[in-house]
Amino acid sequence: MAGRSRKTITPKTRLRILLRDNFRCTNCGRSPATDPAVYLEIDHYKPFSLGGADDDSNYRTLCRLCNRGKGNDEELNKTIDSDLLNVLDRVNSKITLAMATEGHATVVANSEEFAEISKLNRYFDGYVIEILPNTLMGYHAGFSLGIYTLNDNGGSKTQFRIAPRT
Ligand SMILES: [Zn+2]
Repeated sequence: MAGRSRKTITPKTRLRILLRDNFRCTNCGRSPATDPAVYLEIDHYKPFSLGGADDDSNYRTLCRLCNRGKGNDEELNKTIDSDLLNVLDRVNSKITLAMATEGHATVVANSEEFAEISKLNRYFDGYVIEILPNTLMGYHAGFSLGIYTLNDNGGSKTQFRIAPRT
């Protein structure tokens, strides 16, 4: 976003656009009112250099993730990918190796971690993620079945299969 638009958006314009868009991301519909992690930004979507109008029709409200994810930015995709792999590493450091050698991995993660992974993937879409019926199992049982899981018994879990999109 920074560097894309030359003109700074004044606080007055920012507020006017936020009010017009009901304080929701115009792409995914998320709002800080229901999700405190959402940070809204004003996107100036057609640069002046490309004939973009200098009026409200050229502004829209986007959450930070949608704003970052727009366009096909290779550098950005790599950053999002590495964030996602870090979360998988946190669950079990062998998951990335399994994906590299077998092409996929079956994982049991805390639901919070799963939410983080799917949120990141939504903007980058580098992986095919399939939620599997939840199986409650211990750490060691998981390993013997080829399921990568957390060494932790608390919280709700999500079981899923993840494979790099080819
Ligand atoms: Zn959004």
